[in-house]
Amino acid sequence: MNRLNRLNFSGGPGVLPESVLAETQAAITCVPEVGLSILGISHRSDWFAAVVDEAERNIRHLLQLPDSHAVLFLQGGATLQFTMIPMLLLPHRHQTAEYLHTGYWSGKSIAEARLLGDVRVIWDGESDGFRRLPAPPELSCSTDAAYFHYVSNETVEGIQFHAIPGLDEIIRVCDMSSDFLSRPFDPNRFDLIYAHAQKNIGPAGVTVVIIRRDLLAHAPDGLPSLLDYRTHLKARSIYNTPPVFAIYVVLLVTRWLLHEIGGLEKMDAINREKAERLYSAIDDSSGFYAGWSMPEHRSLMNVTFNLPSAELEREFLRQASGAGFSGLTGHRSLGGIRASIYNAMTPAAVDLLSQFMREFASLRHAVTGS
Ligand SMILES: *Cc1c(COP(=O)(O)O)cnc(C)c1O
Repeated sequence: MNRLNRLNFSGGPGVLPESVLAETQAAITCVPEVGLSILGISHRSDWFAAVVDEAERNIRHLLQLPDSHAVLFLQGGATLQFTMIPMLLLPHRHQTAEYLHTGYWSGKSIAEARLLGDVRVIWDGESDGFRRLPAPPELSCSTDAAYFHYVSNETVEGIQFHAIPGLDEIIRVCDMSSDFLSRPFDPNRFDLIYAHAQKNIGPAGVTVVIIRRDLLAHAPDGLPSLLDYRTHLKARSIYNTPPVFAIYVVLLVTRWLLHEIGGLEKMDAINREKAERLYSAIDDSSGFYAGWSMPEHRSLMNVTFNLPSAELEREFLRQASGAGFSGLTGHRSLGGIRASIYNAMTPAAVDLLSQFMREFASLRHAVTGS
């Protein structure tokens, strides 16, 4: 491994498939069907309309998404969704939205929603350090909430829901930014899903929103055009200049998922296998590595852990960096180590990291005589 080809274990922007990077590289020089660089193709061209169509078709196919749900490609990141969602679904002061506070990102979404309306946090994991997620009996969801919001995978802490929380009769909204298209799920149980691209499905700049069309029938009047989902639905995600490049790369990633990986069941099996290799390196270390999350809530995307001291963590990161592993430093709010193993991280690369972890632990155990 040389300096020019390091393994990207970053929490985001994350790793992309090599075949996608090769196609992207070629497209920067010239997209053959158009004869222009992808960076200079008009968003009003027929070619780009076809890109948006195919990206949508592929996402529908991967998720078995019914026609009741629309697919939009928006800007502003997942962070703007923290605002657009309450603008759509919480316009009346007498209503309350229910949120789960399960980590860093759900905390951000709650703070934004509170600027616009009443929010009730029905479960808060902060006092437990966000190491676990609620079991269904711990949740007292109201049957008259405006909507229910949660984050399927807390990217910073490395905890992930392995079952869908909330009541099916209440509008269910989910931030899937860091595990979208990493596993199959039943889209019929969701009313609004959002996921920006840069963790799992592309470069920064585009956010995929899946919204049940009939939610828009009750949209409040007077929303700023750009912050109104109806604008983007009507314009087929080409209302103003969209991030053509980012959407094109998302298309390539969906093709890769369909044709090279073979769908979300297969992707899920690969992701489970990868996560298992890192968690077993943690579990086999006789406590040298301490996993952050409780085992039943472990994330298959972000593996977070600590070493016995901050000094050892610094040494681990220094040596890991020297060995070609990039992006392992834990989020600034949490510290420790985080290995993000999104869809495009190969099992072979995960093996290298697991081997590195095992060797580092055994050498340190030898030095400390434990
Ligand atoms: C990274 C992340 C965000 C923030 O996304 P931006 O695109 O930077 O706005 C929100 N939610 C989750 C779960 C994330 O992982």
